[in-house]
Amino acid sequence: MFVRLIILIGVMLLVACDGGNTSVEQGQIQEELKTYQWRLVTTWPKNLPGMGMAPERFAELVNKMTKGRMQIKVYGAGELVPALEVFEAVSLGSIEMGHGAAYYWKGKVPIAQFFTAVPFGLSAQEMNGWLHHGGGMELWQELYAKYDLVPIAGGNTGVQMAGWFNKEINGLEDLKGMKMRIPGLGGEVFERAGGTAVTLPGGEIYTSLQTGVIDATEWVGPYNDLTFGLHEVARYYYYPGWQEPGPTLEFIINKDAYDALPEDLATIIQAAARTMNHDLLAEYTARNNAALRELVDKHGVELRKLPDDVLDKLHVIADEMIAEIPGDDPLSQRIYQSYIKYRTDIAEYHEISERAYINARARPVN
Ligand code: CA
Repeated sequence: MFVRLIILIGVMLLVACDGGNTSVEQGQIQEELKTYQWRLVTTWPKNLPGMGMAPERFAELVNKMTKGRMQIKVYGAGELVPALEVFEAVSLGSIEMGHGAAYYWKGKVPIAQFFTAVPFGLSAQEMNGWLHHGGGMELWQELYAKYDLVPIAGGNTGVQMAGWFNKEINGLEDLKGMKMRIPGLGGEVFERAGGTAVTLPGGEIYTSLQTGVIDATEWVGPYNDLTFGLHEVARYYYYPGWQEPGPTLEFIINKDAYDALPEDLATIIQAAARTMNHDLLAEYTARNNAALRELVDKHGVELRKLPDDVLDKLHVIADEMIAEIPGDDPLSQRIYQSYIKYRTDIAEYHEISERAYINARARPVN
């Protein structure tokens, strides 16, 4: 009797279990077993320190966080698509994901440049504030939705250097007729100052400068510039990087690929990208000064500050020029207005916070 009761309870439990295993639960189990294999193309030379490694570390992080459900293979510039065709490839969906910088797409989407860097614009810290707590990201998403892309901030180098020159810059007239690799809005300012701006991916800079295709270049800052050996082909290293005060890099994801992800994987992608966005800035902050010392002390690079009047004139040109970028396009106008309002507001606050503190710390006290 007792044994039969036990068997009966056992059967009832089995029935209950089977009955509870609904198609919804089976769907969830299947979803958890499903793996996603994505390709990620970048605008950077393969394994470039800093920005080139950010997508590699991102892919590793996603793999670990998803226990292998999501596997992302990273390709350097030119391995699957050329550096400057990353946007197109991901937009069309032939590749799921990309890593680069929005200003490389200025020929297609001029206002996108505001999501990388604006000359005399936001610093890295300010940019992160605008994007993630100041309405910038929503505008970026709205802009890229037109191209079936989902953007996520993907790193920041901090303030860059003004660049590498083979002659001294004493006035704006020294820029006239000069051919310089300087992408984005900085390049447009440079053109208005009388130079010729060219956009070249990182991998082509050294040879172009060495062979005289360009007269000068900006790239990033000491940490990356040392790796490229730019000190071997240019004598003067100028600062500050007025053209890129806090350039934001980007992850871009094809919208169909992103929408096909279950919610947990999409959340992990967002969280891993945010981690890389902040970690890259930390890496540049920690590495730049040691690299600068090596450039100056070991390689004899001549460090120069751009004269104040040159910076002031570039600033005036920049403010005039960026006001023309949005044109009549309503979304571009909203992006411009949001950026400028935030810049005005944060600049006022940083007078009494960042600048006041840095000035106080710099005062000699001994
Ligand atoms: Ca740069």
